[in-house]
Amino acid sequence: MSRPRLLRVLSALLALCPLLCAGCAPRSEPAETTFAAMDTVMTLTVYGGEADALSAARDRVLELEARLSVTDPDSEIAALNRERTAALSPDTAELLSRSLELCARTGGALDVTIYPVVRAWGFTTGDYAVPGGDTLSALLEKVDYTKVRLEGNAASLPAGAELDLGAVAKGYAGDELAALLREKGVESALLELGGNIHTIGSKPDGSDWRVAVRDPADTEGYLGVVSVSNKAVVTSGGYERYFEEDGVRYWHIMDPASGAPARSGLFSVTVAADSGLYADALSTALFVMGREKALDYWRTHRDFEAILVSEDGSVTVTEGLEKSFTLSGARTLSVARP
Ligand code: ADP
Ligand code: MG
Repeated sequence: MSRPRLLRVLSALLALCPLLCAGCAPRSEPAETTFAAMDTVMTLTVYGGEADALSAARDRVLELEARLSVTDPDSEIAALNRERTAALSPDTAELLSRSLELCARTGGALDVTIYPVVRAWGFTTGDYAVPGGDTLSALLEKVDYTKVRLEGNAASLPAGAELDLGAVAKGYAGDELAALLREKGVESALLELGGNIHTIGSKPDGSDWRVAVRDPADTEGYLGVVSVSNKAVVTSGGYERYFEEDGVRYWHIMDPASGAPARSGLFSVTVAADSGLYADALSTALFVMGREKALDYWRTHRDFEAILVSEDGSVTVTEGLEKSFTLSGARTLSVARP
């Protein structure tokens, strides 16, 4: 074998090594990977399963990002925004169809046609600006999820409308990863997709996963810990992406009714649900609704649990988390009942 060829074979074997070792690790030894995708850092920790589980999961996230990213001109969403009609892949069609249902279910608090507004505030580029009232009223006329047409995989938008699946894409990705990893024999895993946490099963010792919830007022610290298994736990907050001007903080969660950052009195919303997509959609929508409407929504649907942190620092949990959420520090917690 020639020297360069030998080197290539040796380096290929070395590259395979971590995967092989991850595959033969005993069940209690986790395999882990960290990478950047969907505008955030993701860490996947899995116990057991096939040797290629983590690399397949990473490839799947990158595939979804390439389809769904609003800022990548080659994505399906960018093509649809530009051309106003597009034939979507099954992934994008399914996510769009389920997202439109969730826009309706949340009374428009979630609106996936919010993109013109998000862009005017500079959240896609970092060129932050407070748009004038007239600019916003003109842009708001383009925001209306009921005007999006989707038949099978054929999507179309009215003139001027643009989609942004940023509020739901990571949730969908979490569901897809959990399904893929389960197919690859993983029965226990912690998937951290930025602020979206997805758990498969329980910890290898059978106990619940303990998920730390960020304190929106002190992002170095944490608010408390929630114990879960087989659940997605998703937080949206006014601390993730924001800018300040003249002492006012403007964050990236928009109220589709006003076209301005949602100031509902809430500072962060954490939702625990079976589905990552539902948890992601709701963490954004409940933030827009505010505490009272969010609790009304919970009382009507009862298919998720939530932790609501208000700007005044008070914390409310829905009844199903009463025993599994532990607040750190000396705050008081109120429990919402049906
Ligand atoms: P993050 O992306 O930080 O995890 P979210 O899940 O709350 O947070 O999604 C916020 C993103 O969703 C924004 O950056 C914007 O692109 C989009 N968005 C903001 N407000 C809304 C809304 N009311 N409905 C739908 N999408 C929204
Ligand atoms: Mg969300």
